[in-house]
Amino acid sequence: MRLFDTHAHIDLPRFGTPAEQRSAGFRARSAGIAAILIPGIEPGTWSALLGAANALRANVPDVCFHTALGVHPQVVGDLPAKIDQDLAQRLSVAIDGVAGLVAIGECGLDFGRDLPPPGPAREAARARQLAVLDAHLEVARRTGLPLLLHCVRAHAALLERLLAAPTPPSILHSFSGSPEVADALCRAGHYISFAGALTIPGARRPRAAAAAVPEARLLVETDSPDQTPFARRPERNEPAFLVDVVAALAEVRGCPVEAIAEVTTANACRVLGVQLP
Ligand SMILES: [Zn+2]
Repeated sequence: MRLFDTHAHIDLPRFGTPAEQRSAGFRARSAGIAAILIPGIEPGTWSALLGAANALRANVPDVCFHTALGVHPQVVGDLPAKIDQDLAQRLSVAIDGVAGLVAIGECGLDFGRDLPPPGPAREAARARQLAVLDAHLEVARRTGLPLLLHCVRAHAALLERLLAAPTPPSILHSFSGSPEVADALCRAGHYISFAGALTIPGARRPRAAAAAVPEARLLVETDSPDQTPFARRPERNEPAFLVDVVAALAEVRGCPVEAIAEVTTANACRVLGVQLP
């Protein structure tokens, strides 16, 4: 069995020291994880991310480590406003010639609980997230690279943005929308990735979406170090635990674990334009 974890922040200090990142890489290999995509969060940590990925490649050669660079919507409000003006340019320079970089992100919209209370401040925060997303869209459309999208309580706004112009097939990470939104995204050529929420007993919404997504659009991820699968809590999440997400997806869709592994890995390779050795 070969699995592809399409979203794991194993580069972060809060995941663990470089030695801990390395041992998590070995445990991932033992659990059948063949590839891991490490998403970016903000410009200040991009070079540390690329350095951590290089160290993991050198030390854990049996796992393919891929990277993406972008600005997470949850940190947009903490960054200096001037960053928005030349973000597309900055991103283009940062990704230029980076070996193993396969996507732009993570980026997107988060209109969840961290927004300011209703009023002008909330509207400004939303507008800024949209502007930052637009910079990522611009780079993705110019380079043809897929986007790694985060979306919380903003699916209508995100869909509008994605459908406004041809956009490379992209990944909706840790999908929390309805089956109808999943359907609209898949029709537009995008992929839907499921994480630990699927392992929570009685989690109706992610399970309904996971049952509805066409097989050719399904992906899996851990979102490490967050979203630990239900049976492993309160442990810190790591790529090896992807097997729990795959098992939950197999159960929801009524098919063998091996079939889910095969199809999700093939889908990840297709959307990210990579091949496994
Ligand atoms: Zn993430």
